[in-house]
Amino acid sequence: MRIVSIFSRDFRLLDNKLFLGYEENEIIPLFLFDEYNQKEHGKNLKSLFFKVVRSFDEELKKLNSKLYKIKLEDFEKFIYVSKPDVVRICYDSEPRTNERVRYIEQICKKHNVKIEKVYQFLIEPNFENFYFQSFSQFYKKLFKNYNFENVISKPKYLTTPDIKVEEIELPVIENEKIIRLYFKSENEVLSHFHKFKMEKMKDYEKNRDYPAIDGTSRLSVYFRMGQISYRYVLLNSEDEKFKSEIAWAEFYRLWLYYNQDCVNLEYDKRWRNFPWQIDEEKFNRWKEGNTGYLIVDAGMRQLLEEGYIHNRVRMICASFLIKNLMIDWRLGERWFYENLVDADLSANVGNWQWTGGFGLDKSGYFRIFNPELQREKFDKDFKYIEKYIPDYKSHVKPIVDFIESRENYIKKVREYLRL
Ligand SMILES: Cc1cc2nc3c(=O)[nH]c(=O)nc-3n(C[C@H](O)[C@H](O)[C@H](O)COP(=O)(O)OP(=O)(O)OC[C@H]3O[C@@H](n4cnc5c(N)ncnc54)[C@H](O)[C@@H]3O)c2cc1C
Repeated sequence: MRIVSIFSRDFRLLDNKLFLGYEENEIIPLFLFDEYNQKEHGKNLKSLFFKVVRSFDEELKKLNSKLYKIKLEDFEKFIYVSKPDVVRICYDSEPRTNERVRYIEQICKKHNVKIEKVYQFLIEPNFENFYFQSFSQFYKKLFKNYNFENVISKPKYLTTPDIKVEEIELPVIENEKIIRLYFKSENEVLSHFHKFKMEKMKDYEKNRDYPAIDGTSRLSVYFRMGQISYRYVLLNSEDEKFKSEIAWAEFYRLWLYYNQDCVNLEYDKRWRNFPWQIDEEKFNRWKEGNTGYLIVDAGMRQLLEEGYIHNRVRMICASFLIKNLMIDWRLGERWFYENLVDADLSANVGNWQWTGGFGLDKSGYFRIFNPELQREKFDKDFKYIEKYIPDYKSHVKPIVDFIESRENYIKKVREYLRL
């Protein structure tokens, strides 16, 4: 049998359903270049992404195969020329992915080619409805006792026919710093995980909230590139807290899968007309890391410098934009998405909505991080601050008064929701 396997965010050999049946079938690895993603994704993510795709192609060549690269709109031509029996494609929670899957499905139907849709994350959506309204219920009742599938071994060889098609050159997006900071081959990513497991996992819960400590796995970037599977990491981890963080990613993924309009609409419908403020100057000060609140500004500068922010600081920055500046969360979500190397739609939107207090398993609208208290608690020696704001002692004055803006926000929400 001849199988065309479409790779969109699973650039790895280990634990990859796209290679299933390689021993007895021909596998044609294919990458579809989708213009939509070129507009949607930020430069940081794209730089690393195309570097990873190229390196994956090299790995395939070592197995006597290759990654065919064509434009999405040329897929039908490809099917016509390659004449597969099966097209295998991954689906996930993102509206665009699923639109693409439907498009591929139509073409396969037209050409009488069987389509196999595979889910490469942890819990394949198969409920009538995703009915968990709280993470703890999801974790206790489903995730903790779920019978996860076994990890699939790497293919030892591949049989890939030579297809005569016109291929595209992948874009080279110059961002040396991002490549230097994050690029790893699949084997290096695996070693990175095992090193974390050996050296840091036991102290994960204790250290994970301190941004100056290198205490988290830093795997999000590699999950995003699909260079390591969530399943592999989960099944090779013992620490409960760490496993529950992996579960959060799946919780948001399933939520978005069943609530596609929440990409830009509040899950709690009561919030959909909240009068967010338009204040370009304040928004720019937030983006540049010049709000006058040290921990917020260090986080926003980390984002600009490294395309990454520590998780606790992400929450503080998001809370500040929504609750102290009262700026539309969608603008903040887009700014994060554009700049994060690990930008992931469901994790980003889910966390922004959670922080705002209108998402699934929301934090209350009245839960407003006090940036100075957070700084005292989690960066008391200014180590994280100093790294991103070396002259922090003469930093700009705050653009809003914390107490005043906090009270103003709570008052507005109560009036709006009639509480
Ligand atoms: C406002 C906001 C926006 C965010 N946007 C993204 C995003 O675009 N992409 C992204 O991958 N993560 C996002 N997160 C979640 C989290 O901040 C990152 O996953 C984490 O900081 C990545 O670092 P790590 O791999 O060292 O995490 P670790 O602490 O080592 O956690 C291991 C893995 O668990 C998952 N995870 C951990 N925390 C969360 C969480 N709160 N929500 C969902 N999954 C989680 C990630 O896959 C992570 O790699 C966001 C959080 C907030 C508060």
